[in-house]
Amino acid sequence: MRYHIPPPTVGGINEPQECPYCRRTFSCYYSLKRHFQDKHERSDTMYVCEFCQRRYRTKNSLTTHKSLQHRGSSGMLKRLLKSAALAHANH
Ligand SMILES: [Zn+2]
Ligand SMILES: [Zn+2]
Repeated sequence: MRYHIPPPTVGGINEPQECPYCRRTFSCYYSLKRHFQDKHERSDTMYVCEFCQRRYRTKNSLTTHKSLQHRGSSGMLKRLLKSAALAHANH
């Protein structure tokens, strides 16, 4: 079964929100969203980094990880080649 994050209540994103899956209430939509990603989304989907196979619960964390750790495969390859060339030059 696929979970979908519920839309904010008619009162707006700053009104208290109730999680339809476990009936907990949250002070605002952002708290609900955070709870939802933490408690309900994790059982459904895992995002796996194609470069190092680390697993992330949210697409956002994976994107952050990739932008910090890899910055694109070609960039990583260039860095590897450059450090190999430098190591070679030092000897
Ligand atoms: Zn919940
Ligand atoms: Zn990675």
